[in-house]
Amino acid sequence: MVTDKQRPIRKTAFMTWKKCKRKFQYFYFAEDEEYFSYGKLSDSKPLRMGTLFHDACEGFFKRIDLKTAGEVVDIQGYFRGFLPQDTEVPNKWYDYFAQVEADRLIEYTAKNWLEHYMPTFIEKKLHLSDTIDRTGHVDRIDYLPDKEAYCIVEYKTGKSYDPTRSRNRTDLRAEIGFYQQILNLTEDVKAPVLYWKLINPTLQIVFEEKIPSQTLRAVQKTYRDIVTAVENDGPFPREISLLCLWCPYLNNCLYSKEEKIFQWD
Ligand code: SF4
Repeated sequence: MVTDKQRPIRKTAFMTWKKCKRKFQYFYFAEDEEYFSYGKLSDSKPLRMGTLFHDACEGFFKRIDLKTAGEVVDIQGYFRGFLPQDTEVPNKWYDYFAQVEADRLIEYTAKNWLEHYMPTFIEKKLHLSDTIDRTGHVDRIDYLPDKEAYCIVEYKTGKSYDPTRSRNRTDLRAEIGFYQQILNLTEDVKAPVLYWKLINPTLQIVFEEKIPSQTLRAVQKTYRDIVTAVENDGPFPREISLLCLWCPYLNNCLYSKEEKIFQWD
């Protein structure tokens, strides 16, 4: 049943639902603070490096000076100076980010778009009041002057975030669609959000495309399915796969006496 105190559906819960509804149940109804733990520095090295990279990119835009950048010959070198050196994050990640942003600055200067170079939003928190509220957090939102639209920019540092693979691209689109829907239904943006871009410094990839309209329809349907399940206390069926081996709820789900899935005695 949906109550006034119902937790908002955050992106991680939304994506969890798509993988396994039982896992969503464990995650969404857990009586701990994990559900709201976004942004905490993790003990896991890959997650920790990802968070540090995000923080550095956020700080980069606060420190750079476009007037000075326009006067230097080596823009990439100038930008690189505003990113960390020799930390636990690989230097090549920052080298790549400096190169991507230098190329964008050169393009925007040539097209006389300099006033739109700086992101419109950085580390933006999203909230949409709804039957069950929806919340999210995007790394960055840029304005695209030629499209008269906004572009959601995400930094992903894991190797699995490879948008050139269709399966990964579908998952990434679902995440982006979740954010897009919140943004386009709130007053926060003055033009439609129509594009998304991914910067992956591990794979040295920048991927940009218009968000497909079918993504938005799929996101809306999934949201309604989640609300219906929460309202009716289920069903939350298991979706058993190899991914179960990495599931934090594996023991509860498959081995607990109450569940009676695997009982050896
Ligand atoms: S162990 Fe598998 S089936 Fe059970 S909640 Fe986790 S992912 Fe779902």
